Amino acid sequence: MLPYGRQSISEEDVAAVGQVLRGDWLTTGPTVAEFESAVSRVSGGHHVVSCTSGTAALHIAYNALGVAPGDEVVTTPMTFVATASGASLCGAKVVFADVEEDTGLLDPKAVEQVVSKKTKVIAAVDYAGHPADYDALGAIAARVGAKVLDDAAHSIGSTYRGRAVGDLADVTTFSFFPTKTATTAEGGAVVTHDGEIALRAREFHMIGMVRDPERFRMRDQGAWHQEVHSFGLNYRLSDVACALGISQLSRLGQFKARRAALTARYNEALKDVEGIRTPVQRSDVDSSWHLYPVRILDGRRREVFDKMRRAGIGVQVNYIPVYWHPVYEDLGYKRGMCPNAERFYEEELSLPLFPDLTEDQLDWVVDVLVGVLR
Ligand SMILES: *Cc1c(COP(=O)(O)O)cnc(C)c1O
Repeated sequence: MLPYGRQSISEEDVAAVGQVLRGDWLTTGPTVAEFESAVSRVSGGHHVVSCTSGTAALHIAYNALGVAPGDEVVTTPMTFVATASGASLCGAKVVFADVEEDTGLLDPKAVEQVVSKKTKVIAAVDYAGHPADYDALGAIAARVGAKVLDDAAHSIGSTYRGRAVGDLADVTTFSFFPTKTATTAEGGAVVTHDGEIALRAREFHMIGMVRDPERFRMRDQGAWHQEVHSFGLNYRLSDVACALGISQLSRLGQFKARRAALTARYNEALKDVEGIRTPVQRSDVDSSWHLYPVRILDGRRREVFDKMRRAGIGVQVNYIPVYWHPVYEDLGYKRGMCPNAERFYEEELSLPLFPDLTEDQLDWVVDVLVGVLR
């Protein structure tokens, strides 16, 4: 089965991992700090805390932002569940705002209608790699005293109005899962320009451990001492994974260029095909295109999905609206709440897109899709 996404691993990646395995540090060593610097260089030059997944990054980010019971987090339903569930795990109420009809991105006009004094965070997702409208979201957040979070699991390397993802929100989270633009197998990162948020993120991802003697409450202990001031988890990423990440990020520009070329080829091949809509890109954005989401019209998405899978093409659907998940249904969220997101879900089909996809494979995907639609 041709997958919808997959990693691209080079001999340099393999060698980088091998070198760490032969060294002294499998985890909490110097390669972690090097990886965090490498992430910082491609995401606006801010503080970076690496961690074990994009899901962990979101959990860390909401904790570091102080999200707690009584708070509300406004987010998009057109995302992977972790964007919302990280906030729910912190005890916040998640408030879903609808997406723009064409991009599937969190719609600032819909956010405007649901924010209140309780809103602690507005969490956007750069769906398919396309950054959300952070100038508009930032203005709303500033007015109600909220922070903006960018779930950038899809969009490392993308830019918005000339600024890099990582530089667009108060806190940004990345995923380095194999289908994402760059991988550490499992992995993620939290990026922030705010030193205090960065410190809280770092401590939360290290069991809540305080290591700075200046801040110790116990002053009579020896040099071994470290102490816990608030609860945390062990979300540390290993040196082994970070070695892969450094090597991968050195090819981020290549990955982005290849994804852009494949996206352009799909756009060209599909532009006059009836019964579908190709993805749109705003003029002030440069997307690193994690997904190629086509819209299958006339209620035919299920049929097209099944027939393409049967032909050996691993198409995917991204995503079921988050509040349809039984865990949110059980909390009282009702279908129909965000009609644009529900329509988007009913029509969406992600075609294979990854750097090692060949032109021949892409053309085959197009032929099968056109054949199924005919
Ligand atoms: C992949 C993804 C995550 C979670 O990342 P993991 O590394 O798989 O835990 C979160 N949000 C979005 C939008 C994602 O696509």
